[in-house]
Amino acid sequence: MATYTPMIQQYLDIKAQYQDAFLFFRLGDFYEMFFDDAIKAAHELEITLTSRDGGTDERIPMCGVPYHSAQGYIEQLIQKGYKVAICEQVEDPKTAKGVVRREVVQLITPGTVMEGKQLSDKENNYLATITPFTDGTYGFAYADLSTGESRLTLLPSMEEVWNELYATGAREVVVASHFAEELRQKVKERSDFTISHEDDTTTNFPPDIARSLVDEKAKVTFARLFHYLVKTQKRSLDHLQPVQMYEIHQYMKLDVYSKRNLELTETIRSKGRKGSLLWLLDETMTAMGGRLLKQWIDRPLLQREKIERRLQLVETLLMHYFERQELRDLLRHVYDLERLAGRVAFGNVNARDLIQLKKSLQQVPLIREVVGKLDDAKQLAQAIDPCNELVELLESAIDDNPPLSVKEGGIIKDGYDDMLDRFRDASRNGKTWIAQLEQKERELTGIKSLKIGYNRVFGYYIEVTKANLHLLPEGRYERKQTLANAERFVTQELKEKEALILEAEEKSMELEYELFVSIREQVKQFIPRLQQLAKIISELDVLQCFATVSEENRYTKPRFSDHRELVVKNGRHPVVEKVLGAQVYVPNDCLMNAEREILLITGPNMSGKSTYMRQIALTAILAQIGCFVPADEAVLPIFDQVFTRIGAADDLVSGQSTFMVEMLEARNAIVHATPRSLILFDEIGRGTSTYDGMALAQAMIEYVHHKIGAKTLFSTHYHELTVLEQSLPKLKNVHVSAVEENGKVVFLHKIEDGPADESYGIHVAQLAELPPELIARAKEILAELEQPVYSEASLQKATFEQLSMFVEEEKPKELPLSKKEKQALHALKSLNLLEMTPLQALNQLYEIQKLL
Ligand code: ADP
Repeated sequence: MATYTPMIQQYLDIKAQYQDAFLFFRLGDFYEMFFDDAIKAAHELEITLTSRDGGTDERIPMCGVPYHSAQGYIEQLIQKGYKVAICEQVEDPKTAKGVVRREVVQLITPGTVMEGKQLSDKENNYLATITPFTDGTYGFAYADLSTGESRLTLLPSMEEVWNELYATGAREVVVASHFAEELRQKVKERSDFTISHEDDTTTNFPPDIARSLVDEKAKVTFARLFHYLVKTQKRSLDHLQPVQMYEIHQYMKLDVYSKRNLELTETIRSKGRKGSLLWLLDETMTAMGGRLLKQWIDRPLLQREKIERRLQLVETLLMHYFERQELRDLLRHVYDLERLAGRVAFGNVNARDLIQLKKSLQQVPLIREVVGKLDDAKQLAQAIDPCNELVELLESAIDDNPPLSVKEGGIIKDGYDDMLDRFRDASRNGKTWIAQLEQKERELTGIKSLKIGYNRVFGYYIEVTKANLHLLPEGRYERKQTLANAERFVTQELKEKEALILEAEEKSMELEYELFVSIREQVKQFIPRLQQLAKIISELDVLQCFATVSEENRYTKPRFSDHRELVVKNGRHPVVEKVLGAQVYVPNDCLMNAEREILLITGPNMSGKSTYMRQIALTAILAQIGCFVPADEAVLPIFDQVFTRIGAADDLVSGQSTFMVEMLEARNAIVHATPRSLILFDEIGRGTSTYDGMALAQAMIEYVHHKIGAKTLFSTHYHELTVLEQSLPKLKNVHVSAVEENGKVVFLHKIEDGPADESYGIHVAQLAELPPELIARAKEILAELEQPVYSEASLQKATFEQLSMFVEEEKPKELPLSKKEKQALHALKSLNLLEMTPLQALNQLYEIQKLL
């Protein structure tokens, strides 16, 4: 029976260990793929599928990409959620006996990329891990390998895990193999991350990065993440920063739905940044600042001191215009220190990266100086570590314009290393020697056109044209090469000089590389300091960004109330205002307190109801991330959570039944909200039939009113609900006004107290010039519908009490009656009319009447 060739056998052995990855198998100048990998890769990468002989009867499918252009192909596969195992030749093919030894040197996965297009400057690339425990809780951790940061928390339920997964936007999730299938079942259509396995949870990781982990669950959770990183990367992870423990209740809770609905970091429709709050706010000057901004938006704070500290610094920066501009200019020249540090640890920085590092660090003392001038920021300024020794090292060692390659010299400055200087001297002098020798040879032979040249194959040579050959003396010149009309020679003297020069050049290149590697090692020692510096710089960057945006858009510093009171004067929706322009946007007030806990907003479509609701939520979020807010004045409670149920039409894209999504989102709020939360319910019940929807809407309002007490904005087109104001003391009606102007309806986008005008629709129809008799009939019907069957108050009372499931005291099934009414009713029912004379009946009726 035919067997595979040794090389194919080697391939299969290695592939067996990396079944869930494309194995890029190095063969000379190519990475080759075989068998199924080849078929799949040819399809995904649109490259040609070929085949080769592998020792058996059948040819083996094969495709390959050139080594030097592999990066682009790898990125394409990673982008699609695949993994790529890079398998290199680890011994010199010339000296190898038998098949060259090969090993996988790195497993590149979506959650562990260190470079390339997938890594966008202003976004983290997270790898997450989930560990379920037997008590129903979960360990959750995530790390960005490119920056070295990692965070960990313990969560009470899978629901919280989903929220965290969404918040981090993790590209890859590592779990135990037995949990992987369960997770796959759970994610189904939400497969925007790759699921990977890691079963090693032994806690043998370097203790210094896990200082904060005391809990056994935390250790196990981190261990999984750590071992996966070590196994995939197979190299130094010196840049991993100590894991930070966090607790979700340190931050405002924003569930997945709310983040999406409020378009905090991406818009609902395009899924892009543009049009989101992040887009509006992003005036950061550095990539690190950009990433931190996104993190801050994702996690608004709850602790008042922390929020106020940020606000204080923003105010200081806002008031010092010139210092802020200077700071912005300096920050502009600061490169991504965090990711540079990561690449230093990984060993894949080149000299140009080190120059970027140097230039960035050169800004730091200036930044420190500017910040030091600001009263409130002195502490921050002192914490800035300019890493002077590192700057000195880089200034003295690395040439200002080094080449990309680190092996071809041109990197190290003159004067940095004695030995290198000597080699360089030799090679530079060598050029002068050659020039002198050329001069000497010309004089000796009398051939003016004689020249000394150099090529890679023959080295240095003396070239003489055919016409002058007869002038050369015998013996001294050794023929090397014949050209069409010239001959090339060498002499003993030229050979000696050449040896000296070439040796010096070669040695100096080797030495330069050695020096470069040693400098890189020295830079490694600075990684923790660089990371610390990066933290402060990015924080400064976000703070100046807040100041810049707040100034540009005339935002105001919010104050916080202890009495759960909300007062916003002339508030605006930050993004809509930006898009429409401040002249067009109509500012609105909002007042909420103990008597106005629920605002029921009525008004025609497109009048601005949901914009108003979102603007309140965004104002609260902006305040709690430490930014000024779009209003003339704002007093706000600190909200523990924000819930939203907004715009059914917006979900049409997401396959789920719209009404179901609506109910899921509503449930989320109903179950989790507290008196310190903010709830936005926009047109609840729109997704089902009128009565159904209205009943649900009313029931939800009552539930929130009686049982939760959260600040709630509820918009509705069920005008009937406005009567609730009379029975629910903490609910107030507000509406969006509209007027007729020159025969047109104009939405004023102005929120006012009271319910909206009910006949509004007919009004619009009139303006649209529907036939007058039709309009008249509509008015008639409306009047009939509005006609109270009983007195209006009794009807409201009745419907409210019948529909209300949540009022505290027990409700009788019948209409509520007074004690006497009940007695009267009872008496009436118990009359035995058949046994009575008319007079007896009359007397009894008289008695009953007296009861009432
Ligand atoms: P509704 O929820 O009542 O249907 P929206 O809040 O979606 O209405 O607003 C409809 C449109 O009206 C928005 O797209 C916006 O362009 C405009 N708009 C809303 N509020 C304002 C405002 N305060 N000032 C100016 N234009 C506004």
